[in-house]
Amino acid sequence: MAAFDQKVAVVTGAARGIGEAIGRAFVAQGAVVFSLDVSAPAAPRLGITDIAADVTEAASVASAFAEIDRTAGDIDVLVNNAGIQRVGLIGEISAADFAAVLNTHLTGFFHCVSEAVPRMVRRGQGGAVVSIASTAAFLGLPGRGPYCAAKAGMLGLTRALSQEVAECGIRVNAVCPGYTRTKLIEQGLANGSMREDWMLERVPMRRLASPEEIAEVVLFLAGDGARYITGQTIIADGGWTVQGTLHAPAWLDARQLAAAPGRGGSG
Ligand code: NDP
Repeated sequence: MAAFDQKVAVVTGAARGIGEAIGRAFVAQGAVVFSLDVSAPAAPRLGITDIAADVTEAASVASAFAEIDRTAGDIDVLVNNAGIQRVGLIGEISAADFAAVLNTHLTGFFHCVSEAVPRMVRRGQGGAVVSIASTAAFLGLPGRGPYCAAKAGMLGLTRALSQEVAECGIRVNAVCPGYTRTKLIEQGLANGSMREDWMLERVPMRRLASPEEIAEVVLFLAGDGARYITGQTIIADGGWTVQGTLHAPAWLDARQLAAAPGRGGSG
């Protein structure tokens, strides 16, 4: 039996990018998936039902969950993934852009759990909430003040909610991806607020994540293997946030081990 056989998973922002990869991964594991997104996907996806919904609007989220009630019934998993980016220095970025970022990431999370959690509690069979925060929750990124604030707020709400619902068997966790190749990143590259060589220099694994790699972490946290994990955050960033120094001498490079005598090298 697949890990999420007959389970119902709601994923926000699943029309593309990381959310789409999460939706597809749940379907591959037997789940019925609902995508709540302001945009339509490029093409229909087998096993994923698209519902037009704006997570910043409580009424829109409520009507999407009512539609899920009518068509699928109980919800087992909620993934808060919908996101946007607005770049600008404090003093220059508008209050509207600041609010848009906070509303999408943090208030959107609030609206969705406000609908999903009471349903999970009423049903009495537990559930899982996984939210996509970011390394920006921990790091100071110039020009991304609203985003850093929103992502840090998501971790706070994750921890608080985990305490409220632990006794109901509902687990609440977060994933913090590092740079992941999606349209969000392509937009940053196009508008000059990001450069790929800068990104790669910061990431010890010297590559960006794929959306599928982030989806695997989400499925772990939503699944039975994580049944004693709640209120936690998994950082999937290729080593970015634990990097203590950008440069080290060549003899501290692990690749030297292969060449060293007695270490499996040629010597
Ligand atoms: P994308 O921009 O590729 O996809 C985001 C999706 O969310 C889009 O379909 C978007 O629609 C939708 N969306 C935006 N606003 C709303 C809303 N109010 N209600 C419903 N849907 C909405 O982003 P990614 O896949 O890259 O990012 C997904 C999540 O992962 C985000 O929360 C992001 O912050 C986070 N993340 C991404 C990283 C990366 O490097 N890509 C790194 C760390 C975290 P539309 O295009 O119409 O706005």
